[in-house]
Order: sequence, then C-alpha cells, then structure tokens
Amino acid sequence: MKVLVAVKRVIDYNVKARVKADNSDVDLANVKMALNPFCEIAIEEAVRLKEAGTADEVVVVSVGSKSCDEQIRTALALGCDRGIRIDTPDSPDSLSVAKLLAKVVEQETPGLVVLGKQAIDSDNNQTGQMLAALLNRPQGTFASAVNISEDKVQVTREIDGGLQTVELAMPAIVTTDLRLNEPRYASLPNIMKAKRKPLTVITPDELGVTVGSNISLLRVDPPAERQAGVKVSSVDELVEKLRNEAKVI
Ligand code: AMP
Repeated sequence: MKVLVAVKRVIDYNVKARVKADNSDVDLANVKMALNPFCEIAIEEAVRLKEAGTADEVVVVSVGSKSCDEQIRTALALGCDRGIRIDTPDSPDSLSVAKLLAKVVEQETPGLVVLGKQAIDSDNNQTGQMLAALLNRPQGTFASAVNISEDKVQVTREIDGGLQTVELAMPAIVTTDLRLNEPRYASLPNIMKAKRKPLTVITPDELGVTVGSNISLLRVDPPAERQAGVKVSSVDELVEKLRNEAKVI
C-alpha cells in the first residue's frame, strides 16, 4: 500500500508572529519557517506504517513555491521515499489545495492519504475534509489512533468529552490530531540521504487545475495587549480585591 502525506510550510511555532505595519497580513520577512506540526505527525504516522510493513511507499506532497522544497526535504529525511511539489507562487486557498491534491491522489492511487488536522498559520481545518468530499472518499478527522486491517482503517477520533472510533473503507483520508504520535527528529545521515531522494515538481496546469480564490484577506490585527497584573501581599488583600474591585466573588 502507498501512503500519501500532504504537508504545509508554515511560520515556525516558536516564532511570535508580527503583523505588517499596514495590517494587510502577517509579516513573513526573515521569519523562520517550518513544517506544520500536525503535518509532522502525519509524516510520522505514515513512516511508522512503512516500518511496520503495512505501507510499502510513502510519498510527500506540498503545494507552494520553491521554498517549500526545504520542508519536503525534511519530510524525506524523516523517512518519506519521494516528494512532489505542486508549484504555485504561495500557498493557495484550501479549496485550490484540495483540488490539486485530489489530482495527485488520482494519479498516485494511495490506499491512505494523511494530512494534518489544521495548518497553524491560517487555522482553517478544512483541506482534508474538502479533499475527501472532492474524491467522494471516507474521512477520519482528528485521529488519535490509526489501525489498518486489510482494506479497512479504524480511526479513533478526539471528540468533545471523549473518543469515537470509526471504520473507513480504503482508500481513505485521515487528518492527524496532537496525540496520534510523537514525531521523531531527523538524523544527520538521513538529512544527507534525503538530498538524493527524488523530488518532482509539477504545475497546476499539468494537473488541469485552475488555481483561484473566492476569499480575500481584508486585514489582520494582533491580539489586544494584556494589562499588567497586580501583586498582592496577602490572601486577605486578594479576597478584598476580588470582592470589591473585580466583583467576581
Ligand atoms: P488547513 O485546512 O489549511 O488548516 O490545513 C490542514 C492540512 O491540509 C495541513 O496540515 C496539510 O496536511 C494540508 N495542507 C494545507 N495546505 C497545504 C499546502 N499548501 N500543501 C500541502 N498540504 C497542505
């Protein structure tokens, strides 16, 4: 079985995002970029399936400009076998990404497609769902466990107040939640080996997809500054302030 993993290049989660002076977008100039953390979990799950002998090939795909090659190489260093980049000037909206991924799925015919549950830059949480709808294939979102037996995959999903396990006929789409696994680090020898693994670049035209967007970003605002806290010297003073100033007790 082949597993296809979709990964997105996003601002590194350790970086405090800054907004451009004209509020038109997040300022990405000279900012450290990285693999979306949920995509790292997707890679780890696919690589574990290969190590367990359940999958025989793991293909990683990303939609974006040449800079995304860096994240594809990281995925190859983490154990993916080959990479595909769909060349677009920047990451298009979710529906365009889903349409492009759907074409790659049609060409590659994987048994399983694994995506992150959401990209931490735009927090859309919709590409996997759109992909499943476009392909008319079952989806298991927010996966905290994935078990494959023959042509079925059982996905345990994190839902409000508990867990739900669903069984999907393959080929299926799975999106990863935080507790699915703990991704490994790439070793230096594997980073070197990854440089020689195949990375194919294809255009939306070659896939017969027109990339457009029905969404315009109007403005971005940073969160409101928090007010400084107040230190109290005793429990009595705390209770007095909670009662008379904050009026919460
Ligand atoms: P989103 O729906 O934007 O929150 O993203 C959810 C998941 O869709 C990500 O974790 C990726 O697995 C996938 N995805 C989103 N954008 C891209 C992209 N430009 N290239 C490849 N995969 C993507």
